[in-house]
Amino acid sequence: MRVRLRLDSKHTKIVATIGPSSSDPDTLRAMVRGGMNVARINFSHGDHQTHGETIDHIRRLAAEEGTVVAVLCDIQGPKIRIGELQQEPMMLEIGDRVTLTLDDIIGQDGIVSLPHPEFLRDIEAGTTLLLDDGNLQFSVLEADGRNLVCNVVVGGPLKSRKGVSAPNARLTLSAITEKDRADIEFALARDCDYMAMSFVRSAADIRELKQLMQQLGRRSAVIAKIEMGEALENIEEIIAVCDGIMVARGDLGIETPAEEVPFHQKRIIKLCNLAAKPVITATQMLESMTENPRPTRAEASDVYNAILDGTDAIMLSAESASGSYPIRSVEVMSEIASIAEKNLSYQSPSSFNRSNGGEAREDISDAISRATTEISQAIKPKAIVTTSMSGYTTRRVAKERPSTPILCMTPNTKTQRRMALVWGVTSLQVQEFTTIDEMISIIVRTAHDRRLVNRGDRLVIIAGVPFGIDGQTNLVKIHTVGEEGEI
Ligand code: PEP
Repeated sequence: MRVRLRLDSKHTKIVATIGPSSSDPDTLRAMVRGGMNVARINFSHGDHQTHGETIDHIRRLAAEEGTVVAVLCDIQGPKIRIGELQQEPMMLEIGDRVTLTLDDIIGQDGIVSLPHPEFLRDIEAGTTLLLDDGNLQFSVLEADGRNLVCNVVVGGPLKSRKGVSAPNARLTLSAITEKDRADIEFALARDCDYMAMSFVRSAADIRELKQLMQQLGRRSAVIAKIEMGEALENIEEIIAVCDGIMVARGDLGIETPAEEVPFHQKRIIKLCNLAAKPVITATQMLESMTENPRPTRAEASDVYNAILDGTDAIMLSAESASGSYPIRSVEVMSEIASIAEKNLSYQSPSSFNRSNGGEAREDISDAISRATTEISQAIKPKAIVTTSMSGYTTRRVAKERPSTPILCMTPNTKTQRRMALVWGVTSLQVQEFTTIDEMISIIVRTAHDRRLVNRGDRLVIIAGVPFGIDGQTNLVKIHTVGEEGEI
């Protein structure tokens, strides 16, 4: 059974991480049918061959299902990990001494390798280190650039390859490691739709990635993962240069106190909404579903509240990658999203700004997008149709969170797939058009062929004329399907 493209399906997009529990085609197909819009390939795990096969399966299945699933490649970044241990776990108690060393050794007797010279160079005596997602805490007593002699402040079992972070240190690590470079080249060669950059600190990191893509002669949209304190300080400039944001709550809750994560989440979402950039809320959304078929009440509330905050997308991590219920996890997210959307009393960023005494001045695209939403409330069309080359116009309309579905008609395959991440948008590829009459005719015939509209349905069509120039939305047409003999 092929899934029929529907305009009235949920508005909130679901990003699901693919891993051993979900990479077989049958599971992937069920996840697409359950509401997965974006498949996340996590380059912290797995190899290129497996990732390549997964991407092939996703593209084939999405086409067979008559839908669009974007591929998001999540690049590991400069994640600091200890080396291997002789015996697992190494039990550490408060007051123990542990040396982290650049020497290539198998860890034992209080000495553990840390094969990251740049990190060791940056750390000074007095620095606090968190290991294993913050479960263990060390205080650095001595640092000589090669070895860190540490006092154990919070002890516990330490296992091989666990992560190390230094939340208060200024690190000069390069944002793109050798491994990342190879992964980026691979992801671009597989035409990934979004590339997520880990441990972003400033806009300069994003520019570095975009420059590398330019050198490699291929492009992908870039998602900045916000998981460092420094990124929070630079959030506005990061949002301005990237194509989307991920609130990466896992590492963010280590780099900053976990108690502050909800505050940061809400602020980041609000800023992304204002800038019309898609935002993903990630990590531990349905964590208990890695083992159980039902979410906890707190998890259901977390997903619901992220949607009320204004997130474009909600993300599954271990739940779908390595958990026991990957399909059910997607379905549960879809169900919560549908309920949240029915009860959404969302104040669009522009009306929020105005009612809070903010700057009323908007550009033409914003004004048209807002007017389109108001027209839709009044005349209840079947869809708002955006004709968008880059997705700019579509994102501006989505920013207003209209209750009317948004149908993005684009000649550009990349834009069609990227729109899979944007709140409320269904996207279709159409042939290129050069005149307004041709545009209307192509839009209506395509939507009618896909059984999205019937004769007599109203559409609010917005476009930028002349066609093909970014950021120039200047036309609104209210059209009744069939009135000009297009079908
Ligand atoms: C996170 O830290 O929340 C996150 C999404 O990143 P990763 O899963 O790559 O650690």
